[in-house]
Amino acid sequence: MKKYNFNAGPSMLPREVIENTAKQILDFNGSGLSLAEISHRAKDFQPVVDEAEALVKELLEVPDGYKVLFLGGGASLEFCMIPYNFLIKKAAYLNTGVWAKKAMKEAKLFGEVVEVASSADANYTFIPKGWTVPADADYLHITTNNTIYGTEVRKDYDVNVPMIADMSSDIFSRPVDVSKYNAIYAGAQKNLSMAGVTIIIVKEDALGKAPRQIPTMLDYRTHVDKGSMFNTPPVVPIYTALENLRWIKAQGGVKEMDRRACQRAEMLYSEIDRNKLFKGTVAEEDRSVMNLCFVMNEEYAELEKAFLDFAIGKGMVGVKGHRSVGGFRASCYNAQTIEGVQALIDCMKEFEANH
Ligand SMILES: *Cc1c(COP(=O)(O)O)cnc(C)c1O
Repeated sequence: MKKYNFNAGPSMLPREVIENTAKQILDFNGSGLSLAEISHRAKDFQPVVDEAEALVKELLEVPDGYKVLFLGGGASLEFCMIPYNFLIKKAAYLNTGVWAKKAMKEAKLFGEVVEVASSADANYTFIPKGWTVPADADYLHITTNNTIYGTEVRKDYDVNVPMIADMSSDIFSRPVDVSKYNAIYAGAQKNLSMAGVTIIIVKEDALGKAPRQIPTMLDYRTHVDKGSMFNTPPVVPIYTALENLRWIKAQGGVKEMDRRACQRAEMLYSEIDRNKLFKGTVAEEDRSVMNLCFVMNEEYAELEKAFLDFAIGKGMVGVKGHRSVGGFRASCYNAQTIEGVQALIDCMKEFEANH
């Protein structure tokens, strides 16, 4: 049976990205050695990092003065590296979910943290609006897509201070005005590569201002100076990221990723709204086009397990909702297909007809 992958992360990648990575793992560039057994300093590997950086810059139209890093540690390490490097006295955080809250917790170790707004009391079912950022904040930290709750800020705010964004689950799914950010970071396993690499786009002249000593590995300047090669970077995940960046470019770039994401989301949310068994979980205007969350309508609540089993039986993978929301979550990152979304919709329709 054909499987449709809706995993929230690690998650679906284009088949050709997996196949091309597999080939290089067996024989890297015809060298007779595996990609997994060469030095990151091998002359064949440097072009991989160089091309990946160039493609990130091209796809997101990154202005001059920014550096692209490929590091280990996941987005979770950035939660502390960001304030370590950028918090001088005061930082502002928009609390839109568990990941945002975790980022805020680390920042408190380094200085004053202002929570500009929070939707925690409503189990993060919307993105707060109408907040202001203290003019003396060093940065505003936002989480553009809330993977667990299925809300998304699908635009670049206009604020009076530089922004820093955790884009782990929606990077490369839309055009971004990078000039508004001092840093953008993303764990790769949602929308870019396999787990193991984190991408960070950092504004060089915003570094070196924090009034503290920073351990070498946690100082972005170390990695800027050494081109992500201060220590051994995650070689295979970087290669997979390169393959995926090539794939995104060949498909038409982030504008096309945006168009496809909106098309998929339009299809699935229409069915969620139409189908008598289901309903969405978040404010309509804040619905994520990456992680689409839905639950059973109250009168059908007892069918939750039955629908999950039905969907699994039809080849749907990873549609169970996060434990803090319940119900279902269909993650539709860049690699998700219309065919996959249609298969899930057919499943929902068939289950409705049976009940
Ligand atoms: C998954 C996720 C994280 C955590 O990423 P790790 O790479 O596992 O540390 C952080 N932020 C967001 C928005 C996520 O979706």
